[in-house]
Amino acid sequence: MIEIPKRSEVIKKQKDEGKLIAAVFPIHYPKELLRAFNIHPVEVWGPPLVDTKTGNAHLQPYICSIVKCGLSFLLDEAIGTVDMVLVPHGCDSLQGLGSLLLDFIKPEKPVMVFYPPREKRSCDVGFLEKEIKRLYHQLCQLTGYSPDEERLLKEIEKEEALEESLLKLYENRKEVTLSSLEFYRLIRAREYLDADTLMNLLKSVPQKKQTPLTNSKPVILSGIVPEPMDILEKIDEMGAYVAADDFASCRRRVYGKGESRNPFTRMAERILNGPPDSTKGSSFDERIAFIESLIRRCSAKAVIFHNIKFCETEEFYHPILKRALKEMGVKTVEVEVDLNERMPQQALTRINALIESIE
Ligand code: SF4
Repeated sequence: MIEIPKRSEVIKKQKDEGKLIAAVFPIHYPKELLRAFNIHPVEVWGPPLVDTKTGNAHLQPYICSIVKCGLSFLLDEAIGTVDMVLVPHGCDSLQGLGSLLLDFIKPEKPVMVFYPPREKRSCDVGFLEKEIKRLYHQLCQLTGYSPDEERLLKEIEKEEALEESLLKLYENRKEVTLSSLEFYRLIRAREYLDADTLMNLLKSVPQKKQTPLTNSKPVILSGIVPEPMDILEKIDEMGAYVAADDFASCRRRVYGKGESRNPFTRMAERILNGPPDSTKGSSFDERIAFIESLIRRCSAKAVIFHNIKFCETEEFYHPILKRALKEMGVKTVEVEVDLNERMPQQALTRINALIESIE
């Protein structure tokens, strides 16, 4: 069992060390840029099971629970603690959230938006580089500080080293003595931990199996975020384990190294050259190839599409992905969840049936 510090303890410690706290909405943004300004990013992926009355008053009923819970949590609880809010444009709902905060709600803390490109064209690195520079200048104005290239590169390299360790952890998943829930609690600690603390936690991960996972069936989860997290416990109880993931909040954000010595180009390269993602508008072929590479690595025979209700961004891909997986002989099931509800029994029954049907 790995002791992961609580989010509230981390925020307090970072504040005590003189850092500013940024509440950051999903999905892609240059974390290293914020760190170079001594800003500690704490991501807002929900949280699940919050009172969404405040969010409901501002949002249409068909907006997903990540945005609804996130807005409610921000306005009801977090806004007094954080120093700023960053809303990257991950999908139409998040873009709407950014506009809502900037133009209508206007909370007492500064709100910034960030627009990564939605396709993969030759001009995209240049576009994203400019967007990161725009955010850099906004942060300079906000903090009165201008980190130089050396400082930016230092933070980039730290994040790259952290991702290398995360990738190793993923690659050694079978040898890691953690249940699916413990494994993903650790992966998701990246949403609020500083890079040094997470790196130390990764070094402490037990690599030799005490309870062999070989009798468990490897499955892959694909979606935005593994919430409600009890799905992970249930999968283990059904005789399987999550051997790899294609989550926007997890594996799709292990970007890898950039090449340029220009820090702005490098941050743009990292995001754009990372794993394919629905919110980056990646092609069907790229996504199929990526999921196929995960399947090959862990010999999974099934993929569970874990869809947040009203998330059209993900749903758009599913028919093609499912067809491609069927042609590969890989079984699939799609379940719909809402962050503000317990995991539906019907979804668990369907996952159980899928697990029972694989060897
Ligand atoms: S779950 Fe889908 S719709 Fe909701 S914020 Fe994420 S990408 Fe957007």
